[in-house]
Amino acid sequence: MQDMCIIPRPSETTLKEGFFQGRSLPPVTGDVRFSNETAIFRAQMNDAFERADNMRMRSESAAQSIVCAHGTGFADEGYGLIITEREARIEASGPKGCYRGLQTLRQLLAASLADSEGREFRIPCAEIRDEPRFPWRGFMLDCSRTFFSAAFVKKQIDLISMYGMNTFHWHLTDDQGWRLPVKGWPKLTEIGAWRTDYHVSAEPDHIVGGFYTEEEIREVVAYAAARHIEVIPEIDLPGHASAILAAHPELGCTGGPYAVEDRYGIFPDVLCAGTDKIFDFAAAVFDALGDLFPSRFVHIGGDEVRFERWKECPRCSLRMKEFGLGKPEELQAWITMRLANMLHERGKTAIGWDEVLHETEKLGLPENLIVMSWTGTEGGFEAARRGHRVVMTPMTDGCYLNFKPLDSQEEPGRLDITTVKQSYAFDPAPPVMTAEQAALVEGGQCNFWSEGIDSGRIAEYLVYPRLCAVAESLWTRPERKNFESFKGRLRAHRKMLDLLNVCHYRGPLE
Ligand SMILES: [Zn+2]
Repeated sequence: MQDMCIIPRPSETTLKEGFFQGRSLPPVTGDVRFSNETAIFRAQMNDAFERADNMRMRSESAAQSIVCAHGTGFADEGYGLIITEREARIEASGPKGCYRGLQTLRQLLAASLADSEGREFRIPCAEIRDEPRFPWRGFMLDCSRTFFSAAFVKKQIDLISMYGMNTFHWHLTDDQGWRLPVKGWPKLTEIGAWRTDYHVSAEPDHIVGGFYTEEEIREVVAYAAARHIEVIPEIDLPGHASAILAAHPELGCTGGPYAVEDRYGIFPDVLCAGTDKIFDFAAAVFDALGDLFPSRFVHIGGDEVRFERWKECPRCSLRMKEFGLGKPEELQAWITMRLANMLHERGKTAIGWDEVLHETEKLGLPENLIVMSWTGTEGGFEAARRGHRVVMTPMTDGCYLNFKPLDSQEEPGRLDITTVKQSYAFDPAPPVMTAEQAALVEGGQCNFWSEGIDSGRIAEYLVYPRLCAVAESLWTRPERKNFESFKGRLRAHRKMLDLLNVCHYRGPLE
């Protein structure tokens, strides 16, 4: 039996006789391009759930309707979708599940409309029952190396919501640019958001960069919330700090001068562990984040810290003595502890890249810290062994979408190669984990690092369809996954992505 063209593949699908078909669409679609104009529908849907009654939207001809209804026995984001000749009925226990079901319907309608060039829709009657495998299904976008507009960010948020994701990890700071306004610290955006770029122009004063206004950030967060997506900000500390140091040289060990980096790599200048000013800075940043982001989490980075400045810095040496630390590497564990506590006081939980596990024998890891495993899977395994919650995003297992999709000089992307098939094979909680460890895996995500990608079009080309493959790895249980089936369904999604004006890779998948 042919699969319905749904990604991620639902838990159960049963095809029935007949078709839900017509020309005029119920208002859920907004327009035939499905370009997100469903806000009114969503507001009504949320209201209907609050009033605990059903909501019915009829097509112009009143021949078809879409119904959202309360159902029982559904998981938090689970839903049922019953498609008959007269109606498409979504059942869920709340708006979240209803929204996920609506995205499935949106895919079916969009694929069908794409087939007929927007003239009509025709979906086979079916019964679908569905729920996600993991509670954390995310995508990270690096907006530091390349500054992407708020409009582009929103477009990606809508797309990931169509693929059942619920987390957007916003990488807002790095060596190459600081993108967050912080009250009382205007130099962060005046100086830290801009850099020279010799790749674009031979003129030495060619400047690139930008930052988001508070208004834009609130708009992005609200846009995501309407799609049941949590936006998690990341402030990368204490390494990847060139943009911070350029704005505030007093936060470094040597005092500078520093510059926002126009190259890519790992740099020796990091925040000075010996000055308390870095915690005044962190406090102001965390307060700004608390004001702008309702998320339960703040990602504090912690990756790729180099220690040579700390080795030579008299203030850092004093700090080591003060806390009885034997080597500069342990200062990172100390900073992680301080930052996690500051967040805890603000009602937030810290997330760190897997290097936060290093050199923690003496000081331990902050309680509740969530470890994001990127260098491979081992960091995630270790964190789970130590009783910490884990988000898996290993670059070794198809989660790094900035890698080339194919081994070819003509392909964009850098550092390595990850095929669509490798992204599809990603398992956030592989069978080598014990059941107890696997229970600590919140889920996973794919990451897009934007070094050397100064165009949103090329970013999309690299992200899709590998993001679709990771989305299925996060939602669908292993026994329901099948790469041949995925390849078949992808054909419809390519047309759908075209319809949505999304650039996407079309080359070999393995
Ligand atoms: Zn220092």
